[in-house]
Amino acid sequence: MNALVAGIEAGGTKFVCTVGTGPDDLRAVKSFPTTTPHETLGQAITFVHEQQTLAGAPVAAIGIACFGPVDLRPDSPTFGHITSTPKPSWGGTDVVGMFRDTFGVPVGFDTDVNGAALAESQWGAGVGLDPLVYVTVGTGVGGGVLVNGGLLHGLLHPEVGHVMVRRHVDDHFAGLCPYHGDCLEGLASGPAIQARWERPATDLGVDRDQAVKLESWYLAQLAASLTYLLSPERIIMGGGVLKLPGLLDAVRADTAAVINRYVDVPATSSQVDTYVVPPGLGDRAGILGGVALAQRALTQHTSAQRTSAQRSSQH
Ligand code: ZN
Repeated sequence: MNALVAGIEAGGTKFVCTVGTGPDDLRAVKSFPTTTPHETLGQAITFVHEQQTLAGAPVAAIGIACFGPVDLRPDSPTFGHITSTPKPSWGGTDVVGMFRDTFGVPVGFDTDVNGAALAESQWGAGVGLDPLVYVTVGTGVGGGVLVNGGLLHGLLHPEVGHVMVRRHVDDHFAGLCPYHGDCLEGLASGPAIQARWERPATDLGVDRDQAVKLESWYLAQLAASLTYLLSPERIIMGGGVLKLPGLLDAVRADTAAVINRYVDVPATSSQVDTYVVPPGLGDRAGILGGVALAQRALTQHTSAQRTSAQRSSQH
């Protein structure tokens, strides 16, 4: 039986909070819009307090799957902070510190997409697959990477949404990324679709087929690049934009066409339907990312305590 933990999906638009032990046991889920750090983190803390009272027990750990960029270097003085976000008033916010100081339990912290990759590898469409990539296409484009059982950080953390892509010949839209203009996110995010056709992705009317064609062309280039760079065993693609009817199938076909059997394995040709897949956890991949990060933080904390106890008993 897993311990009771709190999971928080800290998104740039909304926060989703839960308390539970796993996908089959989420006691409550609450979401609220992301406003100021003080108000929004305060609401999340209040929710956890309330749930602890209801459960009659404290949570053993907290996991935060956070919008970024975030500082994930454990020895950095700003570990657990949001760094250079364009989102007003959130830059420099010490997210981990607020929860650690309030609850005094281990806090797992990672990007929202790394959290979702971890959750999918434990309970969803990526069980037993490594490396595994989770991509979301919505307000932005992001991706989390699980490799050798761990989540990829390195210099910062992967930012797969900002790769450069070859422009479709029919696309004359300038692109929306404030940093790069026509990078992948600049051309293929939900806001890019809305700006190109001056209508939301859910209401494209006669332009829908053309939107699917362009979107698929760009996302297939991402899938091909991820294949070349990381050699994943599966690429999970989620987010609101992937709900465009026909888009996922188009991405699969285009991925196989772009790779053109250069990586000559069934996953990138005849079995591409099992290679580029939707999240097994559906819309819960993000919040379960928070739960998975909490459980992992608890496991790491317990094993570190055991190691230190063994060391002191040897002296
Ligand atoms: Zn960009």
